[in-house]
Amino acid sequence: MERTLIILKPDAVQRGLVGEITSRLERKGLKLIGLKMMRLDSALLKAHYIHLIDKPFYKGIEEFMKSSPVVVMAWEGFECVNSVRLIVGATNPRIADAGTIRGDLAIGQGRNLIHASDSKENGETEVARFFEDKEIFAYDKSEYLHVYEPYERA
Ligand code: UDP
Ligand code: MG
Repeated sequence: MERTLIILKPDAVQRGLVGEITSRLERKGLKLIGLKMMRLDSALLKAHYIHLIDKPFYKGIEEFMKSSPVVVMAWEGFECVNSVRLIVGATNPRIADAGTIRGDLAIGQGRNLIHASDSKENGETEVARFFEDKEIFAYDKSEYLHVYEPYERA
């Protein structure tokens, strides 16, 4: 099973959209395996956004991501990284498809509510970066019988 890291950014917390966004991921049939609120510091953000560190807008991203606590979640599911990116929508909410989290609920590029891992490998790395082993939970989800075919939940 793949894992994906979600961060509900300060705008999601401040706008009271934590429940709305989490509900969309739950309704997909994903398994929540970790959840906590935290403040992000510069070191963690630099590691997380290493691909953007040389961009002129990086400082703004870092300031914004530190501006209030965030909610971080780890989710598990069959090929879930790509599925979640589709639910999240394009980086720029103004061109994100209607029906997606960003397309429905956001309008500013730097205020796009949510981070989601962009590859299977990054899903594993990012979950490990934000969660300790003891904060990740393994358990059986009874609804899997009705969410997956047998080979998908193996
Ligand atoms: N971002 C921005 N301006 C840009 C590109 C990115 O403010 O031109 C911010 C935006 O909040 C985005 C985050 O940096 O979510 C990470 O960028 P990435 O390209 O990884 O997009 P994502 O994976 O979040 O869609
Ligand atoms: Mg990204």
